[in-house]
Amino acid sequence: MQTAEIRRRWLDFFGERGHTIVPSASLVSDDPSLLFTVAGMVPFIPYLTGVVPAPYPRATSVQKCIRTLDIEEVGKTTRHGTFFQMNGNFSFGDYFKEGAIGYAWELLTTPESAGGLGFDEKDLWVTVYEDDQDAFDLWRKQGVPASRIQHRGKADNYWNTGQPGPGGPCSEIYFDRGPGYGIEGGPEADEDRYIEIWNLVFMQYLLSEVRSKTDFDIAGDLPRKNIDTGMGLERVAFLKQGVDNLYEIDQVRPVLDLASELSGRRYGADHGDDVRMRVVADHVRSALMLMADGVAPGNEGRGYVLRRLMRRTVRAMRLLGVEDPTFPALFAASRDAMRTAYPEVQTDYARIERTAVGEEETFLRTLAGGTTILDVAVGRTKGAGASQLPGDTAFQLHDTYGFPIDLTVEMAEEAGLSVDRGAFDRLMAEQRARAKADAKSKKKAIADLSVYGQFRAIGETEFRGYDYLQAEARVLG
Ligand code: ATP
Ligand code: MG
Ligand code: MG
Ligand code: MG
Repeated sequence: MQTAEIRRRWLDFFGERGHTIVPSASLVSDDPSLLFTVAGMVPFIPYLTGVVPAPYPRATSVQKCIRTLDIEEVGKTTRHGTFFQMNGNFSFGDYFKEGAIGYAWELLTTPESAGGLGFDEKDLWVTVYEDDQDAFDLWRKQGVPASRIQHRGKADNYWNTGQPGPGGPCSEIYFDRGPGYGIEGGPEADEDRYIEIWNLVFMQYLLSEVRSKTDFDIAGDLPRKNIDTGMGLERVAFLKQGVDNLYEIDQVRPVLDLASELSGRRYGADHGDDVRMRVVADHVRSALMLMADGVAPGNEGRGYVLRRLMRRTVRAMRLLGVEDPTFPALFAASRDAMRTAYPEVQTDYARIERTAVGEEETFLRTLAGGTTILDVAVGRTKGAGASQLPGDTAFQLHDTYGFPIDLTVEMAEEAGLSVDRGAFDRLMAEQRARAKADAKSKKKAIADLSVYGQFRAIGETEFRGYDYLQAEARVLG
């Protein structure tokens, strides 16, 4: 089943059940404290918190998302993209747990021939919050055996905003890929074998005090209870398409194949190369979608994230042995795979391509500059009879020339040298500590801009403030 078909079935299913179909909002969130749209609920925050009355009792969408926090996972796990699409259904004081659980189970288990997603019930597991007896009973009512329902604590199955305001338990649905993919025992035991596909959030309490994600006081029931769900479109696509991971689905695979073709390296032959090809396929798509939503490469904020994605792509291609420009071909391939769902990548393509080509040229020049520095340092090291490149050279290359450490290591190795990683890591840690202190003061300023007052309902607080900067500091490291 093609990704577009899963998307269509989703919107039809919830549309037929009284949900207003809302087009995807931009990846660039309206909330100035949030860099990107990180979940399907983000555009609905004012309705979910009750700050603005919802114009409809129920809604559904397929929302474009960016999660930079997952960048280190890309290509290594089977299921994390920096860009992905979250299918959501939302109830604003309308149906609650029974409706949300009933719809989810119906859509997943209705046969494909009858318009559903056609999962075999026996392959599905669910988790519920430890105290949420209602949810447990409702899953049992759908016919899910108690042996495939696991209880989890606040860290996994509770949602709050990090501030006083709405909160509540979650329930998640997982697909068992089978014994070939890991150990038995449900999602508690192995989240690579049991793939999380859908998260149902039950917003039912008013929290008076929130000390942390797992430590808060409940003041009472919300006057209007809400439902917020998110299903990973790419995750369902990879499971339905019978491939091993989300980089091999129809919307992503063409770029992966092109990376393989351009490098002359076969996908599936070497683990390191496979990860690099998956990184290229993921990052090119994310960069394409960001540029289509108007983000331009730069040195801070959103532009910095975009620049990092593109540099990591160049790095990955170089590690695959390709030194010539590849962006024109790679971005065109991603455009072709994405334009049916997102026509803007086609209409804006001339601008996108110009930007991408410019970035690649600049970085390739930077690489050339860094290479000269590296050659000199290599000469000096060898001249002194040493076998290890000093850590401060690696740090300078990283800091001034944007050289990722594994690129420096690889190039040093080509010259028969190792790199003083200990010294490099120390310098990096010092720099991170400086950035963290810096960003802490920035974070305060950002928080003041919030348009939602005390109800800033952000599911992923780690995407803000210095946490974000920290994540970005790791991007090229
Ligand atoms: P995981 O535990 O796998 O990192 P999550 O619990 O962080 O996922 P949620 O915040 O619950 O994810 O988001 C709802 C759904 O969106 C998930 O169930 C999953 O299907 C999908 N999803 C989340 N992160 C990603 C990602 N980086 N790439 C693709 N799909 C994702
Ligand atoms: Mg996650
Ligand atoms: Mg999870
Ligand atoms: Mg989840």
